[in-house]
Amino acid sequence: MKKPAIDYDLCTGCGTCVELCPEVFELADDKAQVKAADKCNTCDCQEAADTCPSEAITFEE
Ligand code: SF4
Repeated sequence: MKKPAIDYDLCTGCGTCVELCPEVFELADDKAQVKAADKCNTCDCQEAADTCPSEAITFEE
């Protein structure tokens, strides 16, 4: 299963990924954080990764 991960150096805290995948991402200290990586089976985290303006979301196997 692919798990989303966030590059904190790239993330600007725009919140787009939280809007797209609220079960997976949350904002904390002005950065997105992965709160439940295993929820990416039920929502399209790939869309969040593709939409992230900073390309800060990558996937770990
Ligand atoms: S969409 Fe990208 S830049 Fe925006 S909060 Fe999420 S990880 Fe950070």
